[in-house]
Amino acid sequence: MAKIIAITNQKGGVGKTTTSVNLSASLAASGKRVLLIDLDPQANATMGSGTDKRTIQPTVYHILLGEKRIKEVSVNATQGKYDLVPANRDLAGAEVEMVELDKRETRLKAALTEVNNDYDYVLIDCPPALNLLTLNGLCAAHTVMIPMQCEYYALEGLSDLVNTIKKVRVSFNPKLHIEGLLRTMFDPRNILAQQVSEQLQKHFGNKVYQTIIPRNVRLAEAPGFGIPVMYHDKNSKGAQAYLALAKELLNA
Ligand code: ATP
Ligand code: MG
Repeated sequence: MAKIIAITNQKGGVGKTTTSVNLSASLAASGKRVLLIDLDPQANATMGSGTDKRTIQPTVYHILLGEKRIKEVSVNATQGKYDLVPANRDLAGAEVEMVELDKRETRLKAALTEVNNDYDYVLIDCPPALNLLTLNGLCAAHTVMIPMQCEYYALEGLSDLVNTIKKVRVSFNPKLHIEGLLRTMFDPRNILAQQVSEQLQKHFGNKVYQTIIPRNVRLAEAPGFGIPVMYHDKNSKGAQAYLALAKELLNA
């Protein structure tokens, strides 16, 4: 049975997509069967996996509206290392169109039951908002992975997200829990980052991954080539960090 992880943080630019793409590639490199679902109209995970959002059809939009099944939409990403359900700008309209529909919060969950045995891991790259798209991600998931930058307001945003997870648990998905908090774009020379990191560990204990993702220019370059960083520069600190994260996840 596939383990489904929503990669979520309503704060923008914290490394959700970078984590989705590179963790997918790293898990695949360990021999795991991985499906990455792009649930963001920005479609950065789609582009970062080497699929052109301007031409790809059909997309996750058609799955949410019940017009297509996952198997009809998924494509081989990164030369077949993992599968991708792509997104494009159509997805921005899905929220409004879904309001009219039945069981609008659990449409992704329903679609995923069909591929449960085809994958070991399903990762869902959520948009930077606590909206109906993210809600679909949280209802479909077993756990939530939260990438975050160790900045001043990071902890504040975290309590909103934790409250949302609690509400989803009550209404839709009783077993949903936090998989782990991932410190991203970390600069150890930054005193504030160190302090926030310590606070995080104090509040969340072993829910904070030991693996820390450093700020690394190779990670920022790779999407421009439409490949995960391990195929851009395997020895870079960024590639090594995401391989270590995959190991930590697999050994948990
Ligand atoms: P959004 O909320 O818009 O979806 P996001 O949370 O998915 O953003 P990313 O797109 O993964 O965040 O990252 C934001 C930017 O920071 C991107 O340009 C990405 O290439 C860059 N970036 C992410 N992680 C790192 C890192 N560890 N080192 C350097 N650059 C990074
Ligand atoms: Mg993103």
